[in-house]
Amino acid sequence: MIIILKKGTSPDKVNEMINHFENMNFQVQEVRGVHETILGLIGDTSSLDTDDIKSMDTVAEVKRIQEPYKNANRKFHPDDTIVDVCGRKIGGGHFQVIAGPCSVESREQMISVANSVKASGAGLMRGGAFKPRTSPYSFQGLRAEGIEYLLEAKKASGLPIVTEIMSAAHLPLFEDVDVIQVGARNMQNFELLKELGKVNKPILLKRGLANTIEELLMSAEYIMAGGNKNVILCERGIRTFETATRNTLDISAIPIIKKQSHLPVIIDPSHAAGIRWMVQPLSMAAIAVGADGLIIEVHNNPEKALCDGAQSLTPEQFDQVMNDVKRTVTFFGKTMD
Ligand code: PEP
Ligand code: MN
Repeated sequence: MIIILKKGTSPDKVNEMINHFENMNFQVQEVRGVHETILGLIGDTSSLDTDDIKSMDTVAEVKRIQEPYKNANRKFHPDDTIVDVCGRKIGGGHFQVIAGPCSVESREQMISVANSVKASGAGLMRGGAFKPRTSPYSFQGLRAEGIEYLLEAKKASGLPIVTEIMSAAHLPLFEDVDVIQVGARNMQNFELLKELGKVNKPILLKRGLANTIEELLMSAEYIMAGGNKNVILCERGIRTFETATRNTLDISAIPIIKKQSHLPVIIDPSHAAGIRWMVQPLSMAAIAVGADGLIIEVHNNPEKALCDGAQSLTPEQFDQVMNDVKRTVTFFGKTMD
């Protein structure tokens, strides 16, 4: 970190600042120019808040040279993290597809969709029991009952389950859930993230609708700083001026995240596009840019879906997409075991 001091800062004040940072165990290098003095801090500056330093009387400017996240940073962990969910690996050359309806609607639906997506090659099953809906009058999910149906579908199909949490108060209901999802709307619910840092289960963290890649990595950092290192990131489209699609898939996010972080990152083409026919081309793009997996909405009867029918594939359409996914994953040298 580089701290540029205000012009005319007295040598006493400069020494005071050097002592302040040395007492915090940083090495401080002082560069005294004709017009200004610069302090270079050497050490792990991730715990420093640049705004706090900027608010000091003597400080003109603060610049980070190192990212503010440490646990999620590839610099401190060069090898890809491989998240293992009941033997299904994600990351480091292992590719997984998570599939299932937007919301859990019934026991029969979950068992039937789970069996069909499994037959098509999905490694995990999704389904929302707690639904973050824009309107309080829309279907809010079956809640605890939904989790029961997911567990029954897991028993019937053998597929591990992924489902969204909206409040830390619901954690006891998630005891048998295999992957806990944090949805886009809760990406910066820091109290929830802190609680999930204490949980011994993988967390699927979706990027917020209007959040930067750095903010996504800082949210992962919240979970990891609590001790839970099993975080899977998910790009699900961001808000832009474009209205032709529900969101805009930020495909560039994948190579950037892969460069800066060792965590696995998957793409959600369903929420990104909001349109069923776009799931196939966006899935192909996701594999080509290096994603470690996909999360795809599949419904037994999309026209009657209680949520997100327009972007949901039928099991038959999913099967077609999976044929292309399997071929492309192999072409790019990854495995789906
Ligand atoms: C979901 O996965 O069902 C969901 C609500 O997604 P997002 O949080 O990305 O909107
Ligand atoms: Mn949905």
